[in-house]
Amino acid sequence: MPSSATIPGLQQARPVPFWIDHAQAPARLPGLRGTVEADLLVVGGGYTGLWTALLAKEADPDARVVLLEADGLGAAASGRNGGFCSPSLTHGFANGIERWPAEIDTLVRLGIENLYEMQATLERYGIEADFVMAGKVAFARTPWEAAGLEEAARASTAHGDPAHFISAAEIGRWTTSGSYIAGMHSPNYALVDPYKLVLGLRRVCLELGVQIYEDSAALGLDTGDRTRVIVRTAGGSVRAARVALATNVFQPLLRRLSLVTIPVYDYAIMTEPLSEAEFADIGWTGDFGLTDAGNQFHYYRKTHDGRILWGGYDAIYHYGSARDESKTQRQETFDKLAAQFYETYPQLAHVRFSHQWGGVVDSSTRFCLTAGTAANGRIAYALGFTGLGVTATRFAAQVMLDLLAGRSTERTRLTMISRKPVPFPPEPVRYVGVQITRWSMARQDETGRRNLWLRVMDALGLGFDS
Ligand SMILES: Cc1cc2nc3c(=O)[nH]c(=O)nc-3n(C[C@H](O)[C@H](O)[C@H](O)COP(=O)(O)OP(=O)(O)OC[C@H]3O[C@@H](n4cnc5c(N)ncnc54)[C@H](O)[C@@H]3O)c2cc1C
Repeated sequence: MPSSATIPGLQQARPVPFWIDHAQAPARLPGLRGTVEADLLVVGGGYTGLWTALLAKEADPDARVVLLEADGLGAAASGRNGGFCSPSLTHGFANGIERWPAEIDTLVRLGIENLYEMQATLERYGIEADFVMAGKVAFARTPWEAAGLEEAARASTAHGDPAHFISAAEIGRWTTSGSYIAGMHSPNYALVDPYKLVLGLRRVCLELGVQIYEDSAALGLDTGDRTRVIVRTAGGSVRAARVALATNVFQPLLRRLSLVTIPVYDYAIMTEPLSEAEFADIGWTGDFGLTDAGNQFHYYRKTHDGRILWGGYDAIYHYGSARDESKTQRQETFDKLAAQFYETYPQLAHVRFSHQWGGVVDSSTRFCLTAGTAANGRIAYALGFTGLGVTATRFAAQVMLDLLAGRSTERTRLTMISRKPVPFPPEPVRYVGVQITRWSMARQDETGRRNLWLRVMDALGLGFDS
């Protein structure tokens, strides 16, 4: 099909996630046939599900752990994200301290531990997912963003996650882009190839004895039997003592979760490989990942083979929480992203893009993990990571295992876990609310001020983000 891109550099871009397109994926595992017994059934084969299965097997190698995935492992957000591994469990430090000031030191510490334990697990099992503790720099375009980063660096450092404010005098050491006036460097931040991570977790789960079935959507939860939850698929069923739901933004199997998240589409484009000289030209000599600091922000990073992934900015919500794969291609957004890339780095005006794709983020009103139980503790769930789940999903997996075991731990005692978020309102209020919030956030990027609408939303604990 001819490209409809209006930007010449995008006209050869393949409409598929770069990571999946470039991976050596093994053949799909067969779907479930017949009835199997499980001590733990995990529903969903993204990071949340894979970590839950892996950690359950590490804790009890004899446990019969079964995982059902509706599509292919990592086919959704886990195989197509930016690969930024944040230490934050709360979608950033600012959101965490705003919502849970009394527990912020604990949240920061647990988040950093989670990031380094993830690194240690990858090393222990020889998972080659191009994981590098490369750090991250956030750039400011405006004086109010610069002031925000200066305060964020001070507060983050004071609460246990050191960060360095990059002043106007120093910014030339980090970038040659004329778009940026200041920044913040956070060393506790990693990058990973997201789909290689999925494949590595898949391999380890299989080696530890997890039974994985792909193309096996769980169709419902039958809790009528007191000792077993029965979960049917088109080809069979699982009789499980415990169930962990790791289905992220997809139609939830528990009705009570239907207003916890809304699907928000996030997009990225990938360049052809660049030379060392081209990176030197834009002043990007380290491997650290980059973002800009506005509400409508870009995230961008290098790949192992010297490309730049450039994503973010637009966060698209469709009326009625509509979701389908065709919405992951949005030419208008790809064109906008490419234009913003060239504007930020005019030195790279000749660079072309090889891939363009999108994915769905499970936006929640608190922007971060919600977890809990149903059916007298036999079913646990975790969802709501919004756009920052690559590392937080591992923590969520541990929370679900704690909850299913009935263990009170430092993790389960967090207010973030024990108190549930404000739900999204039903339509049409939801759609209108999201659009007003998006407009107000764009205005804040231009003016530096939060308008009345955003302040009311803050007071109600309601938010919208990607
Ligand atoms: C474009 C994009 C960029 C992002 N960038 C970053 C980033 O740089 N850093 C970061 O931290 N986060 C990022 N994120 C978010 C991150 O990818 C997610 O938070 C994370 O992957 C969530 O993992 P998950 O396992 O919970 O969900 P998913 O990866 O969505 O997996 C859920 C799985 O459940 C399966 N499923 C659903 N229903 C059923 C059912 N009934 N039966 C069986 N299986 C079912 C689905 O098929 C799916 O595979 C990004 C997301 C997107 C879309």
